[in-house]
Amino acid sequence: MVDLHQHSIYSDGTSTPAELVERAVSLSLTAMALTDHDTTAGLDECARFAAEAGVRFIPGVEFEACEGPHVLGYFGGRPGPAIATAERDYRRFRTESLLIVLECLAKEGFELDPDSVLDRAASGTPLVSHVVAEMKDLGYLSSLDRLIEEFTRLFGPEGPAALPDVTENQWPVVELIQMLRDSGAVSVLAHPWESDLALLPEMIEAGLQGIEVYNRNAHLTGNVENLKRLAERHGLVMTGGWDYHGEAQAARLAKSDLTGFAPPDELLEPLLDLVAAVPA
Ligand SMILES: [Zn+2]
Repeated sequence: MVDLHQHSIYSDGTSTPAELVERAVSLSLTAMALTDHDTTAGLDECARFAAEAGVRFIPGVEFEACEGPHVLGYFGGRPGPAIATAERDYRRFRTESLLIVLECLAKEGFELDPDSVLDRAASGTPLVSHVVAEMKDLGYLSSLDRLIEEFTRLFGPEGPAALPDVTENQWPVVELIQMLRDSGAVSVLAHPWESDLALLPEMIEAGLQGIEVYNRNAHLTGNVENLKRLAERHGLVMTGGWDYHGEAQAARLAKSDLTGFAPPDELLEPLLDLVAAVPA
């Protein structure tokens, strides 16, 4: 089994890169990728721990486009400089949006130090997960069981700290794919079942080379075979992963039946061949 879609504390995961590598070892993964939202900040650290543990590591990233699709990028080595502008831009509007959330929370009586929240993301992407982690540590949020309820009350669309809509700040999908290619990445459409597939021809034209066939929702809705056919029809490589965000998410997922979900080792070689062919 491989897991080519995982998030760390550098975006909205709750695991450190070292913990993700530990998980890879405990699951005997053939290969793992780190694909944090909007940032490559955790890649060197993760590569180091993976090398020490003898785990095959593929550096990656994930960006959401303004039209909705999430695009994964996989690198053969270190990302090229072309990605820096996108990383800076996404970090800027995510930070602005988070500061608005913190102001709203203050009005509700939750005093949080913005620097302390932003520090949690280090050089990565500050997201609401970092606010939640800070609130948990300060005792503002209760047990894991009640967390979802409290999260929805505060941050849901009707909540007092509703997350600002940043859709318009996100890049058009074609620009994201071109930027990823320029930075040496192979672009893959993440969890395609949640995207408008009418955009697929345009994305392929821009340089999209793969599609995440083995993803949880496709598995749960019985759509893996449909996605395989879609990949074959468009000559796209297939990838797969858990879209893992840490133990809290894993505990939630344990409630849905993911029996048999295991992105197979065979996904690896075709992806690595493509990755090796991208000019660095
Ligand atoms: Zn993801």
